[in-house]
Amino acid sequence: MQCILCESFFAEETRFFNLFTFKNICPTCEEEYRPKATFEWIPIDFGYLIHHYLYPENLLNKRQRDILMQHFYILFQEVLISKQSRDVMLIVDDEGFEVFTESLPWILGFRCLLVISLVRQSFEDLMFFY
Ligand SMILES: [Zn+2]
Repeated sequence: MQCILCESFFAEETRFFNLFTFKNICPTCEEEYRPKATFEWIPIDFGYLIHHYLYPENLLNKRQRDILMQHFYILFQEVLISKQSRDVMLIVDDEGFEVFTESLPWILGFRCLLVISLVRQSFEDLMFFY
C-alpha cells in the first residue's frame, strides 16, 4: 500500500479484522501527524478569543492539510462538549486567515470569539495586555 501523506510504500499484516479495510496512512505518518487538540485563550480588547487547533506548526502542504481535515471532527467534539461561552464561532484555514484579519473590525464587536483551525494561527497582533 502507498501512504497518502508521504507517498511511501508500506506493508500491513493481513488479519481477519482488516481483511476488507485498507490503511491509507503509514505507521510513521500516523505517529508524526497524530492530532492533538489544544486550545489557547487570547485576551483581546474587552473580551477574549479561544483558539482550538490540532497541529502546533504549519508544516503541512495543501494536500496534507486536505487529508488531515478528516480529524477535524475532534475539534467539533471538543468545542461542543466544552462549556466555554462564545458569541461567535469561526472556522479559519490558511486562506481564510487573511480574510479573518481583514474583517477583524467587525468581528471584534463580539466579545467571546471561538476560532477553530487545523493548524495554529498567530493571533499575537490581537493580544491585549491588562
Ligand atoms: Zn506516510
